[in-house]
Amino acid sequence: MSPEVYDKRLVNLYSSVLEVTHCPYCNSQKFYRHGRYKYTERYRCCSCKRTFIPSTGTSIHYLKKKVVFIEYAEDIKNRGLDTLRAMCKRLKIAPLTAFDWRHKILASLSPEEFTFGREVICDDLWLRFSRKGRKEVDNPRKHGGKITLADDKNCSKTVSSTDETASMFRLATVGKLREKHLLKVFCGRIKPESKIISSSRNCYLGFVKKMSLNHDDLKVANKTKKAIKINRFIGMNKDLKLWINHKLCGVSTKYLQQYNNFYLFSLFRRFDPLGKYSLNLRFVWRIFTDMENIYRNFITQQTTEVYSVPTKRKWKTTYDYYISSLKMPY
Ligand SMILES: [Zn+2]
Repeated sequence: MSPEVYDKRLVNLYSSVLEVTHCPYCNSQKFYRHGRYKYTERYRCCSCKRTFIPSTGTSIHYLKKKVVFIEYAEDIKNRGLDTLRAMCKRLKIAPLTAFDWRHKILASLSPEEFTFGREVICDDLWLRFSRKGRKEVDNPRKHGGKITLADDKNCSKTVSSTDETASMFRLATVGKLREKHLLKVFCGRIKPESKIISSSRNCYLGFVKKMSLNHDDLKVANKTKKAIKINRFIGMNKDLKLWINHKLCGVSTKYLQQYNNFYLFSLFRRFDPLGKYSLNLRFVWRIFTDMENIYRNFITQQTTEVYSVPTKRKWKTTYDYYISSLKMPY
């Protein structure tokens, strides 16, 4: 019997890109080889006794058409995010497949953990609260149009921040931005001696006071020699909003953080869904299958919005996979 022939790119992902360092279920580092599975090794964990292969829990977990997925990921890398309809046509896949694959790729763009330097410029970006894709809601696809202060309670707030080396976009709430949201967004990411350059609204002043940080007003600082840096920051924020409102015709607030991540990875030319970083995240399956629940927790705990009827897809193995709380989308 002749051995099965596998696509070279797929074999290469398993032999050169995927690296097994932890058990995807319990995060233990103790495991051993336990036979083979097609073109790769199978492992068994000494702690939880479960078996797994290098792709377990990653963006290619449970995929039947892995080779087409590779083409799909390369397509996004080369062209950026096209409409799902166009991608279905090019790759000859079903609409739900295109949707799922996009969200698996987005879930594999979880930013690395880091701490900001001494001077952090930050501001909040307002986008209309969108329930695009949720069939139970009237007029769910709101996006664009001029946003004024009167829209405060109907907008999602993404906190954008940057220092000399890193940038971050974090969806903080829907409705009025408060001190507690900023504390959550910056938890573990700000050094005690740092200075925050932001608007002088009460939420920022309260946050700065609570953390005993220094503060400069964004408008005042923009008239000094920091202007170039601040203008670049403002330009980056404008571009993100334009991309979401015009290129993507709005995105649902449920997935906004993941699109923020996509924008950030693209901005720093780090978008590589088949590269070592993204492909070795073994909580992608967990985020992908648990997104509705993660979104419900966000709406009920971080906003004053009422959570509405969930979409009805369910997966059995969601909670089997390990994820650190810092890696959760919100
Ligand atoms: Zn284990």
